[in-house]
Amino acid sequence: MVPAAGRGERLGPGAPKALRELGGAPLLVHAVRALARSRAVGLVVVAAPPDGVAEVVGLLDSHGLDGKDVRVVAGGATRQESVRLGLAAIGEQVEIVLVHDAARPLVPVEVVDAVAAAVRAGAQAVVPAVPLADTVKRVGPAPAGGPEPVLDTPDRATLRAVQTPQGFRRSLLAEVHARALAEQEAGLAPAVTDDAGLVEHYGGQVVVVPGHEEAFKVTRPLDLVLAEAVLARRRASDGF
Ligand code: C5P
Repeated sequence: MVPAAGRGERLGPGAPKALRELGGAPLLVHAVRALARSRAVGLVVVAAPPDGVAEVVGLLDSHGLDGKDVRVVAGGATRQESVRLGLAAIGEQVEIVLVHDAARPLVPVEVVDAVAAAVRAGAQAVVPAVPLADTVKRVGPAPAGGPEPVLDTPDRATLRAVQTPQGFRRSLLAEVHARALAEQEAGLAPAVTDDAGLVEHYGGQVVVVPGHEEAFKVTRPLDLVLAEAVLARRRASDGF
């Protein structure tokens, strides 16, 4: 399932992020193709911007997608809500769900396959991850007008930057999203930014498989420049 309903404001003004163009096709089309290329994937459900469902259906129709079944639903106000709405469109006979950001258009098929294989092999929840290049510091709130104070520096060797697709037993993912919705309605929303975070929040075990530097998220304008360069290199090297 592909949450693609975000505005992408850090990328600057314009169309919703998933519909921005990269090498002549929207980010979303690249992301869906990247999933559809995997033999592990049989169905792709896209959560589109609520006012852009018809447009997304048209876009996906006009770009061939390897004959995979693709469904489009209206997304929500938050990424979590978009994933929950997408999950509701997936039948209970489906055992494994991968959740992939539309904003990661260039994820290699090997990463998709590795995540699916790890869930098939018995993991409840799987995230692709890469080591960090930068040292990371935890900061506290800035005093009025002053700089943020550094609180501490976690050991970089124990940290990973986490990408998508993240893979789950469908029943577990549906359960943690339902619990999070109930907590949210009680004013106790868990503060998590990815689906694996919800599994962790409710005590589930999440494991890591190797991610890939080309699975980076297009967030800021510079990321689009980098994505264009990666795509141009792929096209030059294998006619992709
Ligand atoms: O904003 P961020 O880059 O973390 O978004 C990650 C993914 O979640 C993107 O693919 C975005 O389109 C999606 N999203 C969504 N619904 C929202 C917000 C974000 O599907 N309301």
